[in-house]
Amino acid sequence: MRKKIVAGNWKMNTDLNSGLELAKAVSEKVKSIDLDTNKFGLIIATPFTHLYAVSQVIDSSKVQLSAQNIADNEKGAFTGETSASMIKSVGATATLLGHSERRAFYGETSETLTKKLKIALDHNLLPIFCIGEVLEEREAEKHFEVVKSQIDEVLFNLDVDDFKKVIIAYEPVWAIGTGKVASPEQAQEIHAFIRKIVSEKFGAEVAENTTILYGGSCSPSNAAGLFSQPDIDGGLIGGASLKPDDFIELLKIRMQE
Ligand code: PEP
Repeated sequence: MRKKIVAGNWKMNTDLNSGLELAKAVSEKVKSIDLDTNKFGLIIATPFTHLYAVSQVIDSSKVQLSAQNIADNEKGAFTGETSASMIKSVGATATLLGHSERRAFYGETSETLTKKLKIALDHNLLPIFCIGEVLEEREAEKHFEVVKSQIDEVLFNLDVDDFKKVIIAYEPVWAIGTGKVASPEQAQEIHAFIRKIVSEKFGAEVAENTTILYGGSCSPSNAAGLFSQPDIDGGLIGGASLKPDDFIELLKIRMQE
């Protein structure tokens, strides 16, 4: 059965000290939770600069450490980039890929993401692959088409064994950091669509086992409605992941629903 996951994306927030405090608080709070890690996962995606120090203070049997991005090359003359082997060497075992902010502000395309995904998989990193439409696309009712092509152009080039290693995060861009959350029905509709196209491509069993997270202003006040939907397996959480109580509350809600 697919894993239910709550993943926090810290984005470019916290300095080392406050990031360490946040990671310690999350790790401390999760201690009291009886977490069956075969069924549930808790992930934090910190800035690169924090990875090593955070890896030293979290209980890695309960909290998985993720980067927010990796370079689209293995190594070499790519000033300012951070490679998959670098993030692995400082304790990360996962990475976000294709977050909408990376697509919008840093020009990440399906071509770049295809390279990054291959590198992530080559390094045994868990890829959390982000997709989602912008407001104009939703208003023009093109959201199904947009997410289909984002998946088609990258994930559907994988062979089935590699596809099974990927987590998908559906994040409508109009809901990210805006306080405007997709309704449970809106989110469920598109999650079901994603599962359907995965099923058409790789078969029903693979689709059933694919974890699909929702992201976009998810918080303890709206998570129960979202997480109770049959095709929403958890959340990719921005703002609320910076507040340890809220973040752990989201895990608890995920475990209850
Ligand atoms: C995100 O950055 O992936 C995200 C969902 O942010 P927020 O929860 O703040 O909308």
